Amino acid sequence: MPEIRFYSGDEIPLELHKVRIVQKLDLVPVERRAQAIDEAGYNTFLLKNKDIFLDMLTDSGVNAMSDRQLAAMMIADDSYAGSATFTRLTDKLKEIFDTDYFLPAHQGRAAENIIAMTFVKEGSIIPMNYHFTTTKAHITRLGGSVEELVTDEGVKLVSDNPFKGDFDLGRLESLLARCSDRIPFVRIETGTNLIGGQPVSLGNMEAVADIAHRHGKLVVMDASLLQDNLYFIKTREAAARDLSLREITRRISDKMDIIYFSARKLGFARGGGIAIHDRSLYLKMRELVPMFEGFLTYGGMSVREMEAMTVGLDETMDMDVVSQGPLFIKYMTDELLARAVPVVTPAGGLGCHLDATRFLPHVAQQEYPAGALAAAVYIAGGIRGMERGTISEQREADGSEHLASVELLRLALPRRVFTLSQVKYAVDRIKWLYDHRDLVGGLRFVEEPSSLRFFFGRLEPVSDWPLRLVNAFRKDFGDSL
Ligand SMILES: *Cc1c(COP(=O)(O)O)cnc(C)c1O
Repeated sequence: MPEIRFYSGDEIPLELHKVRIVQKLDLVPVERRAQAIDEAGYNTFLLKNKDIFLDMLTDSGVNAMSDRQLAAMMIADDSYAGSATFTRLTDKLKEIFDTDYFLPAHQGRAAENIIAMTFVKEGSIIPMNYHFTTTKAHITRLGGSVEELVTDEGVKLVSDNPFKGDFDLGRLESLLARCSDRIPFVRIETGTNLIGGQPVSLGNMEAVADIAHRHGKLVVMDASLLQDNLYFIKTREAAARDLSLREITRRISDKMDIIYFSARKLGFARGGGIAIHDRSLYLKMRELVPMFEGFLTYGGMSVREMEAMTVGLDETMDMDVVSQGPLFIKYMTDELLARAVPVVTPAGGLGCHLDATRFLPHVAQQEYPAGALAAAVYIAGGIRGMERGTISEQREADGSEHLASVELLRLALPRRVFTLSQVKYAVDRIKWLYDHRDLVGGLRFVEEPSSLRFFFGRLEPVSDWPLRLVNAFRKDFGDSL
């Protein structure tokens, strides 16, 4: 990918695609936004789309598809068993990962269910760089536990480490030496989601796989966010500079025993599945697919989804395609940094992450600063983000609050969806909010489900701060939306 420089010296991510289908957006007035978030119990998951201007909740299943993907969906071969669509998909996976076997599943967590049911039992320990919500839920449901081995640098919010998703190899070695009989596999999560979409280096992945194999352990890769990770390996790792994305991918996949993914992210589609090199491993997991997902040639996916995924995987090998997400996220992160707004650095994949602890230092952690910031960003700009802090944790068995180690507001940039002016608008409203941060107060639960409270829970403000924020907005913006 040749870097495109502007004569002015401005660093602007240039869209390498044109828009051919659009969806009209509404920006409702600030008074309506305050009312809408109140109706939603100050939980952005409960907002209605008609009240949202920029939906930055997630990148899952909302990435823009290409003309080639839409065209492929029209020639999908619909049959229960043996569809040509499935053959095209498995051929593409063979081409990219050199895997001979593929088990389809309806999305990433379904692949996790199959892997966990096959390998995890009471007392199992699964070492990984960092957990993901659904991964951990499937492991703990079966009596296993997760051991996080990301380097100390990985959890520092402000850093210039290019690979914050890397494993601490020393800790991996010692865990394998101490608890070998309880460890069925080592899991590598590419584009480490919950620490800010931070990548793992090629060198680290290879070293982790070598260590695990030396101890006789399988290596499982969660490739859901592989696409951003490939971009970072290519642009940040000296040893990979002269390799193509296809070559990097093969270097990685050659070291893995099992590769699973959510195609809601990897491949800009829906669905997911498990790619496997070895026939006996494939046979171990195979019967769970018809039991939980669907027959072996669709696994709960529509054939159209599979066609879109096949083309999407092919496009993932194109630097012009995969660069768009990380470049936009870097732009947004840099613009916020330039305005002194606290963000997670370096910019990763997936989205831009605001550090709510530094954004709202006057809001106690018991009053959910990341949740309050999510509500305030929505009021300020009609922008929906996702709380990734204490609300996303679960209470301890004794009912006490489990305070999260970081309080983040994630603003996802689904790939190829937003334009540069929309990103500039988001930066502008967030900067305005930062200058009025003293007005923002905390939240408390009024309805708190015992599990997954971040999805369904309802809260209220501890004071009339949303009203004061609306008044300040009107004062500064006049009758503007
Ligand atoms: C989204 C995601 C999953 C789960 O995939 P779904 O398709 O949402 O079930 C698993 N791992 C990672 C890293 C993810 O980002």
